[in-house]
Amino acid sequence: MSAETAPLPSPELGEPYLLTPGPLTTSHEVKQAMLRDWGSWDDDFRAMTRDMRSRLLALIGANAQAYDCVPIQGSGSYCVEAMLGTFVPKDGKVLVLANGAYGLRAAQTMDYLGRAYTLIDKGDYLPPRGAEVAQALADDPAITHVLAIHCETSSGILNPVEEIAAATQAAGRKLLIDSMSAFGAVELDAGKLNYVAMVSSANKCIEGVPGFGFVIARTDELSAAKGNCHSLSLDVEAQWATMNKTGQWRFTPPTHVVAAFIQALKAHEAEGGVAGRGARYTRNRDELVAGMRDLGFETLLADRWLSPIIVTFFCPSDPNFDFTRFYELMKAAGFIIYPGKLTVVDSFRVGVIGQMDEHVMRRVVQAARQALTDMGVASAAPPAKALEERKKLAA
Ligand SMILES: *Cc1c(COP(=O)(O)O)cnc(C)c1O
Repeated sequence: MSAETAPLPSPELGEPYLLTPGPLTTSHEVKQAMLRDWGSWDDDFRAMTRDMRSRLLALIGANAQAYDCVPIQGSGSYCVEAMLGTFVPKDGKVLVLANGAYGLRAAQTMDYLGRAYTLIDKGDYLPPRGAEVAQALADDPAITHVLAIHCETSSGILNPVEEIAAATQAAGRKLLIDSMSAFGAVELDAGKLNYVAMVSSANKCIEGVPGFGFVIARTDELSAAKGNCHSLSLDVEAQWATMNKTGQWRFTPPTHVVAAFIQALKAHEAEGGVAGRGARYTRNRDELVAGMRDLGFETLLADRWLSPIIVTFFCPSDPNFDFTRFYELMKAAGFIIYPGKLTVVDSFRVGVIGQMDEHVMRRVVQAARQALTDMGVASAAPPAKALEERKKLAA
């Protein structure tokens, strides 16, 4: 198929935009890259795996030579579990920093692994700060590792990883980062943050399709992790050793997903890498937030904590507002949004990642305006309770 006859991106054919943090809306080229089969043992596919790993390593900054990239089959949570099971020794102890569903899932993973951890649970969205990490590490010398969530996708907060990294390093402990929803759009410089390992997946900011994730880890820590893992299939060190020796994945690789991901990485590079991708997502977020605030909506988070990934809005207090109806009206207009995850007040979330720009976000705001009119909602202002909740978030 030539470029001239290629169909437009599928949202233009009536498929809705996914305003969700992965799976997300991918380009036509990414989908098209999946239209052939590869043998997993073949040289061509081995070269693809090599290319993908080195392209990913190039995204972590100047200190990349001390690191290697290990893809792992499955969704992002498989990679989080693989990272925890591989880098935390059986007699290690993790300080898990939670302020939402993904932090709590990491703690639950530690329960399954039967390995020791302490949890700092900040509730729905308050950020874990450097000073409290420093205090927790001073109080408990048994802690060997700290797990931080980069962007906590359940509220959309961009957690202060620099502060957390500084406190962890000052205390001589090791940092693990779940950068699932931020990597590729927000800088995560290995030289500055000195993490032992981080994880992300194919279907977030690089804009591939779901099917695998990847761990980027220090090679000395990879070597030292031999024998730690509780699981054969999730052993990052074993996957790394085999891949470096044979060029192959240990078990059936998601070949089509890898092909799509390489196409996505090329587009990421053409857009200007992490900085270019981050700039488009930031424009998306700014257009969305300004337009929604014009309609009377309020964000959960103050501007300083808003990620360029996904934004939480409070539901309006107007009794005519009904989230299910709002969702259906938005979907009919071509936009799939996300219910909120706050425990105290009702909310919804709008993702700003994927194949879309600020012009699309303007249409999202128009669709929200029309939905409010259709429901007979006069004001999108949230209940007073929501604004009180927000006051808890110190600047
Ligand atoms: C998406 C995501 C994950 C992984 O979720 P899966 O459903 O397993 O793909 C983990 N952590 C964060 C912060 C995420 O956004």
